[in-house]
Amino acid sequence: MHLKLPKKSIKMYKKSIEAYKESLKVIPGGVNSPVRAFKSVQCNPVFFERGFGSKLYDIDGNEYIDCVSSWGPLIFGHSDNETISSINLSSRKGTSYGAPTLIETEMAKKIIKMVPSIESVRMVNSGTEATMSAIRLARGFTKKELIIKFAGNYHGHGDSFLIKAGSGALTLGLPDSPGVTKNIAKDTLIANHNDSNSVEEILKQNPDKVAAIIVEPIAGNMGLVIPNHNFLKELKLLSIKYKCLLIFDEVMSGFRVAAGGAQELYNVIPDITTLGKVIGGGLPVGAYGGKKEIMDCLAPQGPVYQAGTLSGNPLAMNAGLSVLNRLNSSIFENLEEISAKIHTGFIKNIEETNTKAVINRVGSMMTLFFTNSNRVSNFEEALDCDTEKYAKYFKNMLDMGIYLPPSQYECCFFSTSISEKDIDKIIASNKIALQNI
Ligand code: PMP
Repeated sequence: MHLKLPKKSIKMYKKSIEAYKESLKVIPGGVNSPVRAFKSVQCNPVFFERGFGSKLYDIDGNEYIDCVSSWGPLIFGHSDNETISSINLSSRKGTSYGAPTLIETEMAKKIIKMVPSIESVRMVNSGTEATMSAIRLARGFTKKELIIKFAGNYHGHGDSFLIKAGSGALTLGLPDSPGVTKNIAKDTLIANHNDSNSVEEILKQNPDKVAAIIVEPIAGNMGLVIPNHNFLKELKLLSIKYKCLLIFDEVMSGFRVAAGGAQELYNVIPDITTLGKVIGGGLPVGAYGGKKEIMDCLAPQGPVYQAGTLSGNPLAMNAGLSVLNRLNSSIFENLEEISAKIHTGFIKNIEETNTKAVINRVGSMMTLFFTNSNRVSNFEEALDCDTEKYAKYFKNMLDMGIYLPPSQYECCFFSTSISEKDIDKIIASNKIALQNI
C-alpha cells in the first residue's frame, strides 16, 4: 500500500478551520463536548458532514476510516441500514408521547436477558444521567452517603464524579472541576484503580458510611486500562464485607466487549449496572438496572426520585433494540477478529519503528499509549504517557485519513463495518505515523 503524509495538510481542512471560527462565536469553546475541540492534540477540530459504514466525511470532503464509532455506540458502523430504518419507521408514528409504550417493556426484557446482574431497569437519556441516578439510588437504598470512585475513572459530568475524573476532564488537565461544592466533593472518596487494598483502607476508615463503590470494570477514560486479575472479584467481596453496593459503570463496556458486558466477561455480578452508548444505537440513551429489591426503591414504587420527559422515547428504544437484537456471538467474534488484526499490525509497527509504546485492548476497545513503561494499569501510569507524541501521531493519522480519538486518554472503538482493506490502510498508516513523530 502506497501511503505518504501530505505536505501542506492545512489546505485539507480549510472549511473546518472556518467552521471552528464561527462556532467559537456562539458555542462555549466552539463545541458541545470538550474533547471534540482537539485541544490536547493541538490542531483544529474537524467538522463532519456524514458517516457511512466505516467511513466519516468532513465538510472539506476528506474521507476517514473511523476508529471512534461515536465513542462506542456504533457497533455496526455509520448509517447502519437496520438502525436507520427502525428510526424511520418509528418516527412516522410520532417521536415522543411522554407516556408508556410497549417497546419500553420489550427493551427492559432484552436488557434483563443480556446483562447478568439486571432484574429490573430504568431508561434515561445519557450515561451521565444513569450514573447520577445510580448513586442516588445506592444512597437511598443503603441510607449511607459516601461513595468510592477510582482515580482516572469517568462517570459523566455529575458533580460527585468530577473528582480525579478521566476522559475530557483529564484530557484538558481539569480533573477536579470548579462549580462542584466542597460539600459534594467530600462525599466522594478516591481509591487507586486496580488496587483493592486502597479501597479496603477507605472502607475501614469510614465504617458504615459508604453507600457504594463505583468502577469502570474496563476503564476507558484514562485510555483503556484492563482490570488486574481478581480486582473486580475483590471489589465484590469488599462490597459484601462492608455492606455497600457495587456499581459497574458499563456505559462503555456494556454490549461492547460481550453481550453481557464486562460482568459477563469477568464473571462478577455488581448490584447496580449503568449503561449507555450501544444501548441507543447512536441516539441519546442511558439506563441503570440491578436487583429488583434495589430498583424498587425508585419512584413511583419507592421514595428515591428520578424522572425524565424523554426517557424511553420510542425513537431511541427502536434504534437501540435494532442493535441489541443482532448482538450474537458471531458479531463479537467478528469484532475480535478485526480488532486483533489491527492490534497485531500495530505491535509489529511499534517493534519495527523502535517506538516506546504499549497497547491495551479488550475486544473492540483499544488504546496505544506512548510510554517508556511496559504497562499502563492505573491513573499514575496513564499520566506518565507522552501526550505530545500522541498529538503528533493523531495528526499524522488524521492527515492519512484515519480518525482516532483526539486524546491519549480515550480509546478506539472498532465497528464490524471495518473491511480488510480498511485494516490494511489503518496498519500501513500507523507505521508511517509512528515513523514521523
Ligand atoms: N460513564 C462512562 C464509563 C463513560 O465513558 C461516559 C461517557 N464517555 C459516561 C459515563 C457519560 O456518558 P454520557 O456522555 O452519555 O453522559
